[in-house]
Amino acid sequence: MKTRLNIGVATPNTRLFALYFVSYLFLVFTTFSTSAQDISRGDLDVDFPEFPIVTYCIDPDWLPYEAIRNNQHVGMSADYMRYIGILAEVKFVLVKTRSWEESLRFLNTGQCDVASMLNRSPEREKYLLFTQPYFNDTNVLVSRDEYEFIQGFENIGEQKLGAVSSYRQAEYIANYYPEIDLHLVANESEGLRLLAEGEIDLFIGSLLSMNAKIQKNGYNHLHISGLAGPQDLLAMGVANQNHDLMEKLDAAIEQIPEWLHVEVYKEWNNVKVVNEADYRLIWAIGILFTFLSVIAFWRQRIVSRFNSQLLLKNKQLESLQKELLEKNQSLEFLSMRDPLTLMFNRYFISQRCEQERQLSLRKKTQVCLIVVDIDFFKPVNDNYGHSRGDAVLKEMAARITNTIREMDISARWGGEEFLVLCPDTNKQEAVLLAKRLNKAISQHAFTEVGHLTCSLGVAEYKPDESFVQWFDRGDQALYQAKNSGRDRVVCAE
Ligand code: GH3
Ligand code: MG
Ligand code: MG
Repeated sequence: MKTRLNIGVATPNTRLFALYFVSYLFLVFTTFSTSAQDISRGDLDVDFPEFPIVTYCIDPDWLPYEAIRNNQHVGMSADYMRYIGILAEVKFVLVKTRSWEESLRFLNTGQCDVASMLNRSPEREKYLLFTQPYFNDTNVLVSRDEYEFIQGFENIGEQKLGAVSSYRQAEYIANYYPEIDLHLVANESEGLRLLAEGEIDLFIGSLLSMNAKIQKNGYNHLHISGLAGPQDLLAMGVANQNHDLMEKLDAAIEQIPEWLHVEVYKEWNNVKVVNEADYRLIWAIGILFTFLSVIAFWRQRIVSRFNSQLLLKNKQLESLQKELLEKNQSLEFLSMRDPLTLMFNRYFISQRCEQERQLSLRKKTQVCLIVVDIDFFKPVNDNYGHSRGDAVLKEMAARITNTIREMDISARWGGEEFLVLCPDTNKQEAVLLAKRLNKAISQHAFTEVGHLTCSLGVAEYKPDESFVQWFDRGDQALYQAKNSGRDRVVCAE
């Protein structure tokens, strides 16, 4: 039991302490001449320097009855001992042992004066005297879930029954039920483990202790399957040589009030097991959880930082791609166009003429070329300046582009000379188009310069001639138009 003094709240602990405190004060004032001013609350729990020392041994692993946890005696007997010690005017000092067996040995060899809580048995009576019992309890049989209710040792039959070798039950069964297949174990924990693993069929132990251990270890498939004699009549054991203690201890036990029994039972029967390992586990889980959370958080941060960097790079890449595409498009445009008039250039129209030539050969269709040259353009430059001449070239390009049909392709061939490719067109149709062009140009008043004329040569493609030969015939037709007075259309034969 955790001993702490709660002030102001009437908990069972405060009642226990109040009793210890009052008892202590009573003893101090009546039996000893110690003054009240010398006592502090902290002294209550630990020290009664004037009392003679009596050493005692306990079962180090028998909760809720008693156990050693953190080098301290805890459990029901600890509460009883504290009370009995004050009334019997002895200072109990715990001799720590590793097992109940070792405790019994210490009692036998005089290393312990008394045992805190145990049953009387013929074997123990050889070296111990027993006070009157101060706590009664029931022994029970524990089994796995597949076994049904068992009442008494008579019905155990062939089943293997486990018992702690140093406990009275082992002695009792060996004496009175020799036919039982008894399997001795070192302690209750080992017995329950063997039962859980199927090594034994039944195990005998004290009710409270079995209940506590089944709960503590999470043995869900074990249950208490029946009562087993004899009743536990738990008393203090006194080594033979200390027989003079018997009277004092018996008198103290006699005085244990009913409410103390109730409080101790209530406090410990709820299986409040002082188990540091559980706290350590909780701590370990907490630390592990925190550690994993920190790692997850850290990883998340790195991932999101990389992601945002990646997003940024992607955006930069996208905009670069867009820029490149636009540059490519403008490069493609420029590679096909004449920079001044933005008409197709000589390179492009040459390619198209070549393609249309091939097509007309394959499809047996006609295709024509119209070569256009501005008449007396040099004087325009001379009279109005070169930039005005450029502006005239642009206006001329617009006139040509707006006058030709949708299927025709126009281009600037060079200087003030233009070319119109007329796919799927015979020479009569091409001459008509050339005349329309001639008229559209001559009727247009160019800005500042006024009216201009042009001469046009038409050539229909003849099978087997090259593009150069085809163009030359158109150029010769143009030459004839110039020579015959300009401002006219001449068609090559
Ligand atoms: P013709 O009727 O015999 O064709 O007479 P023309 O003056 O048009 O012929 P010519 O070949 O003598 O002159 C062509 C002129 O075109 C010469 C040149 O200054 C001008 N020219 C060529 N390219 C450009 C250009 O890009 N811009 C300008 N402003 N003038 C150009
Ligand atoms: Mg010319
Ligand atoms: Mg000219």
